[in-house]
Amino acid sequence: MSGAPAGDRIPVMIPWLGKAEADAAAEAVLSGWVAQGPRVARFEEEFAARVGARHGVAVSSCTTALHLALVACGIGPGDEVIVPSFSFIATANAVRYVGATPVFADVDLETGNLSPETVEPVVTGRTRAVILVHQGGMPADVDAMRTLCIRHELELVEDAACAIGSEYLGKPVGAGSLIAAWSFHPRKLLTTGEGGMLTLDREDWAQRVRRLREHAMDLSAAARHASSGPSFESYLETGFNYRMTDIQAAVGLVQLEKLDAMVERRRQLAARYYELLADIPGVRPVRDPEHGRSNFQSFWVLLDPAQFPGGGRDATLNRLAAAGVSARRGIMASHLEPAYEGTDHVPLPNTERLTRDSLILPLFHALTEAQQEHVVDVLRKPADDAA
Ligand SMILES: *Cc1c(COP(=O)(O)O)cnc(C)c1O
Repeated sequence: MSGAPAGDRIPVMIPWLGKAEADAAAEAVLSGWVAQGPRVARFEEEFAARVGARHGVAVSSCTTALHLALVACGIGPGDEVIVPSFSFIATANAVRYVGATPVFADVDLETGNLSPETVEPVVTGRTRAVILVHQGGMPADVDAMRTLCIRHELELVEDAACAIGSEYLGKPVGAGSLIAAWSFHPRKLLTTGEGGMLTLDREDWAQRVRRLREHAMDLSAAARHASSGPSFESYLETGFNYRMTDIQAAVGLVQLEKLDAMVERRRQLAARYYELLADIPGVRPVRDPEHGRSNFQSFWVLLDPAQFPGGGRDATLNRLAAAGVSARRGIMASHLEPAYEGTDHVPLPNTERLTRDSLILPLFHALTEAQQEHVVDVLRKPADDAA
């Protein structure tokens, strides 16, 4: 196979949405209850049960979930929070929302995740928390980071935006986590259009973020609606409007039923990529660590420019694009963006290497074997030509 016909581009991701989601959204609309209501409550319960968490609090995005997580942890001005630069920029931005300072740590080259070895050197007397990202769905070593956090008396917030359905030590990512933030953006596995969730272990924190997402009212709109007499709410602190709608939750409930099939299909396709890519020199796909299994939200490959005959990452992306394949540059490095220009940080060699030399290959439930072979053929061609 060579060039793909126009209109037949292979995208990097397509959400798995169908008539069941459309019907569920329509049912919510026709019910008249479109803002946060009974469907959100059900989605919270079912989501928390699926990831093995005590409490679920649905919000408008993972970004707002991260913001509320840091508020719950009591982080504020003068505090430092350790984050990977190698992440979507929202991870670092959330720290700025509470007036604290994001401090970048490097990541492990194999998994793209923070490790105690990369975090320890940037802990200071002002460090209050670590945001541990399960990058691209690759499970980070939560227990190792928790041990470090306990030793330094730091809060541990998990950014599990990409990790729905990933596993850590045989359990779902999120099981037993103190506080984890999730995303339902369509670039992630399970989507509600936009949307997010916080899962929590502590009852008092769960109650507080439940209120904070709703203007910090002591009586939820749903509770007010359900009461027969007049009710008077009060506003306990400065809250936010970070609510999810019942239309979104209706879609999320259907998506949750598909989650196992989504993850299984992605793992099959990832295994097939390993086979197909095996003999191309200088192309190293991301792999599961010993402590867990990815959902392969992002299937990235790291190019070794000394061995890969196809030139650099950008040339490779261009070649793929010309052949009808929408691959993407790898995960961004926040410290290289204008928003973080001038930020002090330790050297971040693995972050810079990963962000410069990696690309994300198409992976979605409907990707066909022929499409997958086409992607790999385009990657392999320079090696074949050189042989
Ligand atoms: C996508 C993403 C976010 C932001 O999620 P939204 O729901 O779009 O706000 C945060 N962190 C990571 C690691 C992400 O990949």
